[in-house]
Amino acid sequence: MTRKLAAILMGLALVGGTRLAGQQYAGIRTFLRAPHVTDLTRLDVDIAVLGIPFDEGTTAVPGARYGPRELRENSMEYVVDQEDLDDGFYYIDTDKRVLKGRRWADCGDARVAPTLPSRTFEKVTSSVRTILSRKAFPVILGGDHSISFPVVRAYDLPSLMVVHFDAHLDTWDGPPGSLYHASPIRRIAELPFVKKVVHVGQRGLANDGGAVENSRRIGASIITSEQIHRKGVEWAMSQIPQAENIYVSLDVDVLDPSITPGTGTWEPGGLTFYQVSDLLTALASKGKVVGLDVVEVTPDRDPSGRTAQTAVRLIIDLLGAVFH
Ligand code: MN
Ligand code: MN
Repeated sequence: MTRKLAAILMGLALVGGTRLAGQQYAGIRTFLRAPHVTDLTRLDVDIAVLGIPFDEGTTAVPGARYGPRELRENSMEYVVDQEDLDDGFYYIDTDKRVLKGRRWADCGDARVAPTLPSRTFEKVTSSVRTILSRKAFPVILGGDHSISFPVVRAYDLPSLMVVHFDAHLDTWDGPPGSLYHASPIRRIAELPFVKKVVHVGQRGLANDGGAVENSRRIGASIITSEQIHRKGVEWAMSQIPQAENIYVSLDVDVLDPSITPGTGTWEPGGLTFYQVSDLLTALASKGKVVGLDVVEVTPDRDPSGRTAQTAVRLIIDLLGAVFH
């Protein structure tokens, strides 16, 4: 290549902060190419990402243990290098940039103890506690949905509202003493500081009267997928109260299986990308959002990677609204 041609190409790459997007194949895989920080006690960031490669709580299709890896892989397309991440993310419709100058860390994955879920969950809770003690916002990459309980119990707050996006209520009992991916919300509601649960996006024949009864008993609100399709996002937001602190748990099966096929339990009639994005970003006006998990990404069912790609975009959308 001539020096002149190289200069022209370099110039093209730099015009207006052009992103050389799409180099997903290059570089070491961390979430959005954030620096990998292994000593959590020394975290000094706004946002800390932690993977939980655990799927022993699944009842149907396993494979969510590959979720964190898949989310990292597909996040790489959104940023070229760390400088690019520092620059934030540009939205064409608002002509605005979000998350500019925010400091990120990828804390790697929590250590899983195979066949000893309570030990794994203790490890998860202590890691999240450390992240919170360092004043970082936890972004948790599951894993099946059981991991939300050990994450939420790490919080030390006077009150917390949990907003739970899912095709399923996840308030089933299971065998006594168990925690599996259909019971985390029931377990979370038993935590004394969890004052309110809002379920969003339920549908399908897997939900039953028993789960609805359990949700009623904990005083949860249920905003179904059909209601959102028929009455709209604004109506749905009007059903969600203000709260001091809000934790968001996002099971990717809340979206329609046509956009998130990479998950274990498909239900037709799911939410669209814009519905979920609008709901997530509007939540930031309901109170202080203090944490997020994204669970049930099961890449074996989606070789295209669109499930993880969509999930990563939703993470950026929510964080952009939270760190406004
Ligand atoms: Mn779930
Ligand atoms: Mn689900």
